[in-house]
Amino acid sequence: MKIVDVRELSVRLEGDVANAVVSFAEHDVSLVAVVSDVLRNGKPVIGLAFNSIGRFAQRGILCDRIIPRLRAAQTKDLLADDGRRFDPAKVVHVGMRNEKPGGHGDRAAAMAAIELAIWDLNAKLGDEPACHTIAQAFGRAEVAPTMTAYAAGGYYYPSQSAARLKEEFSRYRDLGFTAFKMKIGGASLAEDLARIEAALEVAGNGENLAVDANGRFDLETGLSYARAISPHGLRWYEEIGDPLDFDLNRRIAEVYPGAIATGENLFSAADVKNLLLFAGARRGLDLFQMDAGLSYGLGEYGRMLDLMEEHGFERHQAVPHGGHLINLHIVLGLGLGGCEAYPGVFQPFGGYPLACLIGGGRVRATQAPGFGLEEKPELRDPIACLCPEIFAHV
Ligand code: MG
Repeated sequence: MKIVDVRELSVRLEGDVANAVVSFAEHDVSLVAVVSDVLRNGKPVIGLAFNSIGRFAQRGILCDRIIPRLRAAQTKDLLADDGRRFDPAKVVHVGMRNEKPGGHGDRAAAMAAIELAIWDLNAKLGDEPACHTIAQAFGRAEVAPTMTAYAAGGYYYPSQSAARLKEEFSRYRDLGFTAFKMKIGGASLAEDLARIEAALEVAGNGENLAVDANGRFDLETGLSYARAISPHGLRWYEEIGDPLDFDLNRRIAEVYPGAIATGENLFSAADVKNLLLFAGARRGLDLFQMDAGLSYGLGEYGRMLDLMEEHGFERHQAVPHGGHLINLHIVLGLGLGGCEAYPGVFQPFGGYPLACLIGGGRVRATQAPGFGLEEKPELRDPIACLCPEIFAHV
């Protein structure tokens, strides 16, 4: 068994949305395919994945550095010892050859896309949903059959209004979501408070509404928002300041009584260790949003979870950033605290097929082998473009 091709396609995100810092109008994502020489029903078994959402496609790093190393590797350097699967850790070892430690930027997302495609490939070789492959690899006895998920959206649009926000969250509620997340920090505090109050009319109460500042605030602004939103008892207050300013996070955690969520922009276990040690995170309360698709893949993500538990935090405090099918399988397989879902934004990658939505704020995986990306209608065209053989009639 061997890998015969590795491919990348940069896919533009649809829509024109923005958070407090970033417009996604120019963003794209790397869809990758790892093609094996194993044939099923006359077609090759192919692992598919992408580098989550929010860090641009990584075509340069993939095509200039990582993919050539994989192409040059010997089969034994990529296969598990039993020869029946590929070894994600070996694939990362080869893909990262001659890269210095540290500086965990875009490289971490590029490598993650390939590593996750190996998990998809292994699950397909085993003819099972990826959540089962993941649970088994991490020594977990069972896969959660369903999981809580919140609908993330509430972005700033070119023509924004509280009415539009309410209409958006009402659509998510009609899809079966009961909790929501919206952006803050892209408008004045007064304007954001009005948006929060509009969103609460749909969410019902603060328990069902989280807010995300996307790292925009300095300490003073973060504290002003903390004081202003405290009475609402919100679900959480997310990524308040610069993702690496652990001192800022700690100083807000000292005064803000509700949950604080952060971690989506930390791409290595070493960075997470510092977060756990120095950011004032509170055991049993705060949430960690590291994303395997941005941080070298599931192997590094597993090391982050180990660190959380070593430092007295629980895995239900892990709620990965991402809002897509890959993280749904990771959350189910690892028994984490919940899923993000992007039912209305970041197409074609965001959200899940309708068969995954079961109402009451819960979601499930389907029985499709792997991450089931081929089942998501919006992904069909990009997948067919990257791998015409997947949907070809044979
Ligand atoms: Mg966020």
